[in-house]
Amino acid sequence: MSEHIHNHQHGCACGHDHHDHEHDHGHCACGHDHHHEDSTCICGHDHKAEGGVGHDRSMGRVFFALVGGILTANSFILEALLPEQQFASYMSALFGAFILALPIIITAVKDLIKGKVYMNELVALAILAALVKADFQTAGIIAFFLLVTIIIETRTASGAQRSIEELIKLTPNTASLIGADGSEKEVAAQDLHVGDRIRIRPGENFPVDGQIISGESTVNQASITGESVPVEKVAGDDVFAGTQNLTGAVDVTVTKVGGETTLGKVKEMIMQAEASRTPVVRIIDRYAGYYTPTVLMIAWITWWFSRDMDSVIAFLVIACPCAVVLATPTAVVAAVAAAARLGIFIKNISHLELASRISAFVFDKTGTLTDGLLSVVKLQGVDGVTPAELLRSAASVERFSNHPTALAIIKLAQEAELELDGVTGFAEEHGKGVSGTVAGSLYRVGRANWMRENGLLLPESDPDEAAGMSVVYVSKDDRVLGWIGFRDKIRKESQVLLSDLRRLGVRYCAMVTGDRQSVAEEVAGQLNIDEFKSGCLPETKVEFVENVKRDHTVAVVGDGVNDAPALAAGDLGIAMGAIGSDIAINSASVALMTNDLRRIAMLIFLAKKSQVVINQNLIFGMLFVFGGMILSIVGLMTPIWAAVIHAGSTLVIVFNSARLVRTGEELTLADKAESDK
Ligand code: ADP
Ligand code: MG
Repeated sequence: MSEHIHNHQHGCACGHDHHDHEHDHGHCACGHDHHHEDSTCICGHDHKAEGGVGHDRSMGRVFFALVGGILTANSFILEALLPEQQFASYMSALFGAFILALPIIITAVKDLIKGKVYMNELVALAILAALVKADFQTAGIIAFFLLVTIIIETRTASGAQRSIEELIKLTPNTASLIGADGSEKEVAAQDLHVGDRIRIRPGENFPVDGQIISGESTVNQASITGESVPVEKVAGDDVFAGTQNLTGAVDVTVTKVGGETTLGKVKEMIMQAEASRTPVVRIIDRYAGYYTPTVLMIAWITWWFSRDMDSVIAFLVIACPCAVVLATPTAVVAAVAAAARLGIFIKNISHLELASRISAFVFDKTGTLTDGLLSVVKLQGVDGVTPAELLRSAASVERFSNHPTALAIIKLAQEAELELDGVTGFAEEHGKGVSGTVAGSLYRVGRANWMRENGLLLPESDPDEAAGMSVVYVSKDDRVLGWIGFRDKIRKESQVLLSDLRRLGVRYCAMVTGDRQSVAEEVAGQLNIDEFKSGCLPETKVEFVENVKRDHTVAVVGDGVNDAPALAAGDLGIAMGAIGSDIAINSASVALMTNDLRRIAMLIFLAKKSQVVINQNLIFGMLFVFGGMILSIVGLMTPIWAAVIHAGSTLVIVFNSARLVRTGEELTLADKAESDK
């Protein structure tokens, strides 16, 4: 993993991440060619040998910048205070300039030998020109500010690297393993295996994903979900690596370790997002090859007409477009980090840009707009089948499903302490129902249409009393045993979300559901929805989305389990409640770790805000680069000013992007306030 991070980590002269799969012009001031393994950087470190964590590299650069900077500054001080000590000042500037410039020039030369012309050469050339002029103070200052730019870049733009470091810190290095005899033994967390039993005490973080076997506690899952309100956990509940055990000691069976845990998946997502590139960055990459030769030509023409070396040096320094190149990546990384803090994981950077353009939403109903915690409100047997028999048959088969319907049936059966039958040949048809064999008879539990497809005759007319209820039928072989009615609650934040989305410029909101018309009608009626479709199969949902897509950029929101095809069909797929669910994490472009719908509006808000920041950055960066170039050509820019402005404009952009990091904090604060009440 460390190698992977390094590939994306290097700040080059232009502050740009060159890891690119299509082009091979990537190389940076740190002297490290990102595609080769044997190169070393300014700081002289062998990147291969370094551990995954740490800023040792930039520490090396800081050292160079510091020593060289002090020498350069010293030369100015000597010059001012001891005018008779010309020579000392001169020597100080000379050494300073060489210490600062050497690594940059070496890099540029290496690049040239490899036949690559990129932005490093511009600054190297400017420094060389100043050195040739024996203007060591200027050379030193230019090189100093360039190094400062590189340091700023690696420190701030590698936000993903830092979020990952933060995540790594969340999991403890050791765990206490419980042996077969009940004894406890301290082991390294990485030596844990699926099936091991471990004990976690209050205040400790969970090292792996697991299921509680005994004890109860409250858990702070904020590190993954962004929700600061602690969650109660009892035996049978899942716990997640990196979350904090607060109140009680619990024994846990390990269910997932390392990269398989939700935390591991989250790390992977952040890394993928950082490695992905936005269209703007791709365009810049494409034209980068033409940029340097063009700049060199203009520099030469300027020299030809003005014979003023200072103008040319200033021109070369200011032409290095760090600010422009950093405009997008810094903003995007800050936005992705801010989202992650809210439990919103964006898989690909281009999804952020997409999210800012969404004009339509398609929501799944059950578990998305409603809380999906169904409760059984009716058990209607036919031909003398008792409610208990009906429930027992249904629960026996549903035991193996985790559909909201199934969970409601199982819960009730457990409460009634029903003895369930042994089932063989369990099968689930997503969006339709489940089947299994008990004592030679085939049982089915599922929706009306599916029952009819299987040749069952359902009780004549839809019972009136079932209006507004979700209904599944239960059958044994070719006989219907009865039906079960459910009710579900609309999430309290659904209404708010829909009005928030409209305020953010979303023009169309629709709902699709596999549920019955009467239920869909009721929910849609309460929620100011433009259009809804009931009785959907997973493929009808896809069709619906495809239709909306003709006129809109569509986001689809679902639970990711049986909505995966619809999620994939949308321009943007948002999976809810993704914590602990691999399918949800894998199928969506954005995974929300909680079921809190307000996060969706936050995502859109953040996406729009980052678009604004990116545009500001680009305009500002270009203004400085092109404005500075013109001022240099006409002789109104000194090399030192060019260097200062170059570093200054980069700083402005980095800070402007950093504004995004705190977005959404008020949301988590609101959570806290609510829980404190
Ligand atoms: P929704 O679109 O509301 O999330 P689904 O697509 O998950 O609904 O399912 C559609 C319908 O299929 C459900 O309303 C239910 O009648 C039926 N169904 C799906 N899975 C099951 C199951 N495990 N047991 C019983 N019925 C099911
Ligand atoms: Mg669903």
